[in-house]
Amino acid sequence: MRTHYCTDLNENNVGEDVTLAGWVNSYRDHGGVIFIDLRDKTGLIQLVCDPADNEQAHKVASQVRDEFVLIAKGKVRKRGEGLENPRLKTGKIEIVIDELTIENRSEPMPFTLGDENVGEDIRLKYRYLDLRQKEMFETFQLRSKAAIAARNLLDSLGFLEVETPILTKSTPEGARDYLVPSRVHNGEFYALPQSPQLFKQLLMVSGFDRYFQIAKCFRDEDLRADRQPEFTQIDVEMSFCTQEDVMKVAEDLLKAMFGACGYEIKTPFNRITYRDSMEKYGNDRPDLRFGLELVDVIDLFENCDSPIFAEIAQYKKLNRIKALKVPGGDKAFSRKIIKELESFVSKFGAKGLAYIQVKEDGLKGPILKFLSEEAIETMKSRLEMEVGDIVFFGAGNKKTVLDYMGRLRTEVAKRMNLIDENRLEFVWVVDFPMFEVEDGEVKALHHPFTMPKNLDEDDVEEIDSIAYDVVLNGIELGGGSIRIHKLDVQRKVFEMLGIGEEEANEKFGFLLDALKFGAPPHGGFALGFDRLMMLLTKKESIRDVIAFPKTQSATCLLTQAPSQVDEAQLKELGIRIRKQPKTDAAQ
Ligand code: ASP
Repeated sequence: MRTHYCTDLNENNVGEDVTLAGWVNSYRDHGGVIFIDLRDKTGLIQLVCDPADNEQAHKVASQVRDEFVLIAKGKVRKRGEGLENPRLKTGKIEIVIDELTIENRSEPMPFTLGDENVGEDIRLKYRYLDLRQKEMFETFQLRSKAAIAARNLLDSLGFLEVETPILTKSTPEGARDYLVPSRVHNGEFYALPQSPQLFKQLLMVSGFDRYFQIAKCFRDEDLRADRQPEFTQIDVEMSFCTQEDVMKVAEDLLKAMFGACGYEIKTPFNRITYRDSMEKYGNDRPDLRFGLELVDVIDLFENCDSPIFAEIAQYKKLNRIKALKVPGGDKAFSRKIIKELESFVSKFGAKGLAYIQVKEDGLKGPILKFLSEEAIETMKSRLEMEVGDIVFFGAGNKKTVLDYMGRLRTEVAKRMNLIDENRLEFVWVVDFPMFEVEDGEVKALHHPFTMPKNLDEDDVEEIDSIAYDVVLNGIELGGGSIRIHKLDVQRKVFEMLGIGEEEANEKFGFLLDALKFGAPPHGGFALGFDRLMMLLTKKESIRDVIAFPKTQSATCLLTQAPSQVDEAQLKELGIRIRKQPKTDAAQ
């Protein structure tokens, strides 16, 4: 219907007859002459309808309202002196209209496009209108470019794109499954995949050698700010590979995707072991745009005069005493700020926040009196303390201390403006433990198909795995592992996880069977595509990079899903609802 998109036109087209199609972004009547800003996906252009040029077109123009759909025929004209609009790409020209058709009308908009004060609920309810905004379109343009770059790169490396089932059996990635009842087999359920993990491993047994998929995954979790019940992963698996080979593919893939969005990134990425990351940064997704490493000082409190600290220092495996030195922090942090930091860490289980200030005339701080001269001297040199610094201390249970000191590190960096928003600090976290023990229960830290390194180790928590995560600026982009390809090892790992033979056969019998038929060594990874796009487009929320996202309570405000279904449908499925569904108010 059109000859050009709006912003295809410029001064070189002056004098040409063109046909444009799009929406009325705005209109103005200036003493009889009507100006319309016509919008398509590329941007805006000004249409001029002067009754002196064409009475018929002017008459039509007098009926247009915001968001009406127009087909406009006319001639490109240079705008008069002083009438140019430098804010528009097409601001030097306009279209003198010969023929104007209202192709469709629009009711008044429920909200004004681009108005930042509009609530997200209304935007999500009318998502198709929200997506009319140029910025939105550009986000999805980038998303498409990144996906195509990923496909091209993986294709060039010999990876085959294969679709795996959506109606399937549970894959354990640590979340609850979404279930779909079967009509044909009453009382039985499919699970939506939490990831294509098992299928991609099976494709390796098939000899496909290199697989990828831009895959929808489903996890029924209590949603945090950054999560969606369904999300997209770029999922990769390869055979006869080492961890190094897999990491190289992941780096090349990220390079291609970032490149497609205009960012040049350097590879290979730095690496840190899981244990080092936990000790130095308090978590397994370190933000390396700034320093502020946590330093171990538990040894210095061993025989100190504080019964509490001395007691903590006795159990070095279970406890931690960590110091966070903030250069210049004594000058920067008032008493009030220190109080705020104390209440910040208390939210994460800290019982208090001890600190030492480094003043011109020496160290100040209540804990000094518990420490020997020698311990203080060692601490001074270990932390390289200088006048103007402040040092915070966290002491207690290892898990709690690492967690709140890691958070404190980031909080302090924010308050001291130490974070360069334009830096991209990628890092691989490697050598993850195979298991974690929670309340006496042994769980897989990655997933149970991950290859352990030293399975014979007596202490399960000391068993490492060949698993790796890629982290950018403190955010986990994805991860993967080398998998178990030997049946006996897989059985042993299930056993250690408390999954009995019967349960293993019932849940993963097909995988165990496949491992009997010449499974090659293999491994892979998956990248969280939505999160990656959120970072690439510098958006605050993951919802901004998903065309039709769900709210934090997992509802779709546009379609009103999930919704009740009629009795007949339930009957066919053999389902009876025991409790009344929640009312709107209860959701
Ligand atoms: N399936 C894993 C996940 O979804 C990724 C992998 O191990 O490849 O996190």
